[in-house]
Amino acid sequence: MLLGKHFRRYYAKYALYFLVGVFVLIAVDWIQLDIPKLVGGIIDTLKSTSPNITQIEQSIIRIGVLALFITIGRFLWRYTIFGASRRIEYELRNVMFSHATKLSQSFYSQEKVGGLMTYFINDLEAIRMSFGPGILMLVDGLMLGGFALYRMFNLNSRLTLYAVIPMVFMTIALVFIRKTISKRFKDRQDSFERLSDFTQENFSGITVIKAFVREIKEAILFNDRNMDLYDKNIRFMKYIIIVNILIGIALNIVILVIIVLGSLSVINATSSDLTAGQLTEYLSYFFTLIWPTMALSQFINIQSQARASATRLEKFLNHPLDVKNSEDAYDVSDLKGTLKVDHLTFKYPDGDQPILLDVSFEIHRGEMVGILGRTGSGKSSLVDLFLRTYNLEPGMIYLDGHDIMKLSVKSVRQSMGYVPQDNFLFSDTITNNIGFALESPTKDDVIEPAKLSDVYDNIMEFKDQFETILGERGVTVSGGQKQRISIARALAKDPEILILDDSVSAVDTKTEEAIIKNLHRIRKGRTTIFIAHRISTVKKMDKIILLDQGKVVAIGNHATLMKTSPLYQDMVKRQTLENLVEGGANHEGLQG
Ligand code: ATP
Ligand code: MG
Repeated sequence: MLLGKHFRRYYAKYALYFLVGVFVLIAVDWIQLDIPKLVGGIIDTLKSTSPNITQIEQSIIRIGVLALFITIGRFLWRYTIFGASRRIEYELRNVMFSHATKLSQSFYSQEKVGGLMTYFINDLEAIRMSFGPGILMLVDGLMLGGFALYRMFNLNSRLTLYAVIPMVFMTIALVFIRKTISKRFKDRQDSFERLSDFTQENFSGITVIKAFVREIKEAILFNDRNMDLYDKNIRFMKYIIIVNILIGIALNIVILVIIVLGSLSVINATSSDLTAGQLTEYLSYFFTLIWPTMALSQFINIQSQARASATRLEKFLNHPLDVKNSEDAYDVSDLKGTLKVDHLTFKYPDGDQPILLDVSFEIHRGEMVGILGRTGSGKSSLVDLFLRTYNLEPGMIYLDGHDIMKLSVKSVRQSMGYVPQDNFLFSDTITNNIGFALESPTKDDVIEPAKLSDVYDNIMEFKDQFETILGERGVTVSGGQKQRISIARALAKDPEILILDDSVSAVDTKTEEAIIKNLHRIRKGRTTIFIAHRISTVKKMDKIILLDQGKVVAIGNHATLMKTSPLYQDMVKRQTLENLVEGGANHEGLQG
């Protein structure tokens, strides 16, 4: 049994399935052993001087009826036991996915996606095996084996004793081997996880690999990991082979003993010995016994693997959801978008230096605010904190006067529309991408946001227009198109607070102007936060917050900063110069 808290509840939930399944299985095991008895009877009848044909006919009919029962029974236990195991697999997979989506950003910065996939594929499969074939093999092994031994013992106790002794030794050996199987299986899964990480990352970064002509180097690195997996597989398989050989040897010895002693006893028949029919029956039982022995060793194997996988899954499922509602969290459905940052200092969970230092400012409802700063100054980290991607000390960020740590995570995030810096899009239609925040988006819902973010014309040029599938399965869009679709996605949510992280860096200045003009129009009265490198982006905004090395160095509009902030003046000077040098044509050169 798998005793971890995430698994044991399924035994209770599917108890009825398992009980019916096990009951039917035991019944089938018992019934099927009547067949050797009937066959033995037929042989002895045939051997007698005047065989009773009606008796033989009756036996054959009984065998037919038994076979029918066995067939129905096998269907029933498969349906119940295997059916339950598939349902458990399905439910557990949902639990795992839902848990994975709730895990915080810090989890994902440590775990790689490829490795996560092994939980969903290999480990889940090992758990399913334990609930399905595992239970079957345990019950079948014990019951069918027990019944067969019982009948063998009734036929000839001395012979059975000889047959059982090697089996006992073998079982003891198997118990010792079990732990090692589990350990080696875990090693194998870990190695598979590393290989999977590596493969996934390489495919994601395939353009970089090609551009740097790293194909051969990567293939060599892949080979190292692949070789490691091969070694771990071999080490694991060696044990499985040892188990099978042990069983094989034990069985062969026993068969030899039975045949020699059994034949002798038929030849020198006395009243207590076996008849030819009984020896056939006895051997049939013994051959029946082969499967239970195999089943038990398979059970040990399956169970050892499942335990190793259960340990890995427990670790994953028990990983705390560090970003969650506080005990006294409350919902506020109509947040209006006034933000106050109060002496905010923040350090990443795995970092040692604070990357935001004593940051304080206010953003009022309806303002359009630019956050400007050199690369690495902490702009993205700051807006991540608005979205409560990480936990904070209380009293550092207030939303409409509510401490963000006291508001429910859902309230905070529902009030915001976010255009992430990496502009991630799903491999889905443009309609579904832009309408991501909507229940079931239609083209009509997404046309307006697409127009506002100035990507409508581009979309109409695609063959399938709004039905165009993006990403891995479809059209690859340009960096600028990606940014604008991503802006449209946030606009479609029509949020109280809109946050754009460096969202117009890949579009030309004319498009940038058009988008900002649209934003000014539609965002009137609501808060918009615009992270940028370019002065031109933020120049006309109500307020500019200038960050440098995690600190706020100036706040004010363009005119004020031109007077008060040397860093701002410097940035303006440099960007104007770069603009001149490049003839104002290449906006990339303007980045700070
Ligand atoms: P850019 O303009 O290049 O986007 P930025 O101002 O948005 O830069 P941030 O992404 O906020 O800068 O990064 C600020 C600092 O925090 C950097 O030194 C970066 O290395 C660090 N940092 C960012 N993300 C993490 C993370 N998940 N864990 C640890 N440190 C991080
Ligand atoms: Mg950034």
